Formats: sequence, structure tokens, C-alpha cells
Amino acid sequence: MSPSFDIVIVGAGAAGLAAAAELGRAGRSVLVLEARARIGGRIWSLDEPGLPVAVELGAEFIHGRPAPTFSLLKKAGLAAVDSPRVRFVARDGRLEPRSDGPYTEIRRALKRELGALRSRDISVLALLERLRRQGLPEETAMFARRMVEGYEAADPARASARAIAEDWSAGADGHFRPAGGYGAMMRWLLGECEGTGVELRLGSVVRAVRWKRGSVEVAGSSRRARFQARAPRAIITLPLGVLQAPAGAPGAVRFTPALREKRQALEGLRCGAVVKAALRLRAAFWEDLDGGRYRDASFFHDPQAAFPTFWTALPERTPLMIAWAGGPKARRLARASDPEMRCEAVASLQSVFGARAQVARRLDAFRVHDWQRDPYARGAYSYVAVGGEGAREALAASLRGTLYFAGEAADFEGEHGTVAGALRSGKRAARQVIEDD
Ligand SMILES: Cc1cc2nc3c(=O)[nH]c(=O)nc-3n(C[C@H](O)[C@H](O)[C@H](O)COP(=O)(O)OP(=O)(O)OC[C@H]3O[C@@H](n4cnc5c(N)ncnc54)[C@H](O)[C@@H]3O)c2cc1C
Repeated sequence: MSPSFDIVIVGAGAAGLAAAAELGRAGRSVLVLEARARIGGRIWSLDEPGLPVAVELGAEFIHGRPAPTFSLLKKAGLAAVDSPRVRFVARDGRLEPRSDGPYTEIRRALKRELGALRSRDISVLALLERLRRQGLPEETAMFARRMVEGYEAADPARASARAIAEDWSAGADGHFRPAGGYGAMMRWLLGECEGTGVELRLGSVVRAVRWKRGSVEVAGSSRRARFQARAPRAIITLPLGVLQAPAGAPGAVRFTPALREKRQALEGLRCGAVVKAALRLRAAFWEDLDGGRYRDASFFHDPQAAFPTFWTALPERTPLMIAWAGGPKARRLARASDPEMRCEAVASLQSVFGARAQVARRLDAFRVHDWQRDPYARGAYSYVAVGGEGAREALAASLRGTLYFAGEAADFEGEHGTVAGALRSGKRAARQVIEDD
């Protein structure tokens, strides 16, 4: 029979590793099964020769000062690098500084609507139309829509206005990156598991989870063979998109019995789309344009472009530009091949700076990862759909003291969609397992 452990953890992303480290410290024997040949999941830091920063194909920033991330960084002896927020936006063929005015204005309007939205949720799109009728300037409404698409990776026609209003009124000040990239944090977490009862198996794709009270059997395949593992309990950190995948879809995992208790939670959440690409250029050409006006700029926006947002590696000065598209724009891009995405990214950066930028000529290397087509992610990060109140709590609830759930989508303390939320949910699930022992 397959070897037995106290707990099986499915997935070695931030949530799975946080859970494993916690359980390892508590003296449990843990088997972590990870489909990819690497740890980190939606954290994927590439150390490229000659670049002073990691190229992050997934998570990159720490939004605000979330306790789960900052306390981990402290323990790991890693710094949080503050990043400047000087922004320029392309308008009528010119680059202008972007003010925070529309953001402040929309946050205020959302705060006012919160009471009404708590009694009756509507979509972001419907709310913006209502606010427009009440006199919200068109520019502010457009700004809000783009933020929901680009930052929340959400479709405004489906996203819950209540959830967005709650998140935005809370607000998060500060914008950091972990020194050495998020990869360094994940390696530290893995290091914490060393010398404990944690065993990590990479390249192990879980395809089926058969469970009943007090017993879980996990079956799957690795490059070499099929495998099975057994434990009285399991922590499932599968991404939302994987949990929602219909039977037979790439990456889908079959639960027997099916997770009927989770159906409503899974219907109340959506997996947002993001396409993120890294352009390595021969020089940071933008630093010299227009008399050095953009030298300290970190973000550039062209709302009309296929990739509407770019950012630099500041405070590190290096010829790296990150291209970002979220929500419906990302869904459109995600159908393209890598060379087509490269063309779109080059054209978008060119449209920010104009023909003088000569981006194609200056491009040294291009890296992109399509998280939507990735069978072990099936999307970027979660958002709440209209009427999906309580869905995150419901997703996080354990089933019969046997199956536990963690991952960014299962964080219900305001860090969902982020590494911080994934870390917190993993730790929470591990503690719950220990309590239930
Ligand atoms: C492009 C992009 C940019 C982002 N930017 C930021 C940012 O700047 N800041 C931020 O805080 N967050 C950001 N995020 C979100 C952040 O990356 C995630 O919230 C977080 O990493 C999720 O961690 P997790 O452990 O919940 O899930 P994951 O990291 O997805 O971990 C789940 C693991 O399960 C594995 N798995 C899947 N299927 C199977 C299977 N069948 N068998 C075994 N293993 C399986 C996966 O390979 C993965 O390793 C970004 C995400 C993306 C995609």
C-alpha cells in the first residue's frame, strides 16, 4: 500500500509551503505533492544573468504592509524594498503625470455606496453607470473601470461592487518588493521544512482525491509512474481556476465524493485573467527622453494599448520593463501565441513613448507566461462575483475534519488575490489541522 503520512498537502505555492512549514515545526509528517518541477506556483522568479533584480513572471509586489508577508520577511532576514509611485499616462500623443485625484474621488464615492451595496449587491459596471447618472465625472468612472480590469484582473460586468467597495475603502498604502524577489521567500519557507517531517515531491500531478471522514487517498502521475498517497487529512491549495475546472479539462482534479459543499462558494468567485511580460532592453532609453523627465517614473499607462500598463524596476535602475494587461484585455491577449504577444508588447510600449522609442530595435529578450492556459493555475487570481458574499469563508471551511482548504482565494481577511493572503490561509489551515488532531 502507498506510504502513510499525517497530512498530504496538494500544491507547493505560498499557501502549501506556509502550511508545510507550520506542520513540520509542529512535528507532523507531511507529504507535499506539487505538479510543477519547481516550488512557488504563481510565484515564479527568474534570476537572469546580468540583471540586478529577479524577473517576476507572477507575483512581484507587496501591497501595503500585510502582516503575513512582513513577519515572514523579518524571520527570513529579507528586506522589503520600497518602490516609488511616480506615474505617467499617455494622452493625445503626450505623456502627462497621472494624479491620484480620480482614485481618491472613486474611493470616496464607493465608501458612500457601501451601505446600499451591503443590502443589495450589483456589478461594478452597473454601479459605475448609477454613479455617472448621479454626476460622477466620466473620467473618474473610466479610471475606476480600468482599475477593476487591470488591478483586480476582473470583468466589471461580473465583479461584485460590494466586494470592490470594501477593498478599496480599506485601502493599502505602500508598495514594496521582497529583496531578491518572491522566489527568495519561497526558498526560505522550503528551508524551514528541512530537518522536519516534510517530504516534497515535485513533478507529481494529483488527478484524483478520494476521501471520507478521517481518510484521504490521493492519486496521480509523475514523469516516472503513477502514485498514490494516504493520510487521515489533506490540505488542498489548488488554485481557484483548478477547483472550478470541469471534469476532463486540462488540470482538473476529480474529488470523490464531489465537493458539493463548495459548489456555492465556487460559483461566487471568479478567476481573473492577467498577462504579464518582461521586456529586457539594451538600455533604459526612457530615462533619457524629454530631458530626463521620466527618469524617476515607475509606471507608464496607455489605456488604449493592448498592454495598457508598464513599470520599471525602480529603485533599481536597469533596462527592464514589465508589461501588464488584466481582465478582458488579458483574456483577448491570452489567445495569442508568444511571438504575437511579443509584437503586442512592443507595439504597446512604442505607443507609450512614440516612434522615437524604437522598441523593436532595442529589445534584447522577451519573457511571458500565460497563466490562463497554464493547467496548474487556470487564471491569475480570484475576485468576488456579484452576490458572492461569504464565498471566501465558505471555500476556506474544512470538510468533516478531513479536507482543509487554503490558497489566495480562501483568504477572507482582506489579503485575497495576493501572496499575503495565500500565506495566511496556509498557516490558518495548518493550525486548524493541529487543533483538530
Ligand atoms: C501575473 C501575476 C501577477 C501577480 N502579482 C502579484 C503581486 O504583485 N503581488 C501579490 O501579492 N500577488 C500577486 N499575484 C497573486 C499571487 O501570485 C497569488 O495570489 C499567490 O501566489 C497564490 O498562492 P497559492 O499558494 O494560493 O496558489 P499557487 O501559487 O497557484 O499554488 C498552488 C500550487 O498548486 C499546484 N497545483 C496545481 N494543480 C495541481 C495538481 N493537480 N497536482 C499538484 N499540484 C498542483 C500549482 O502548481 C501551484 O504550485 C500575481 C499573480 C499572477 C498570476
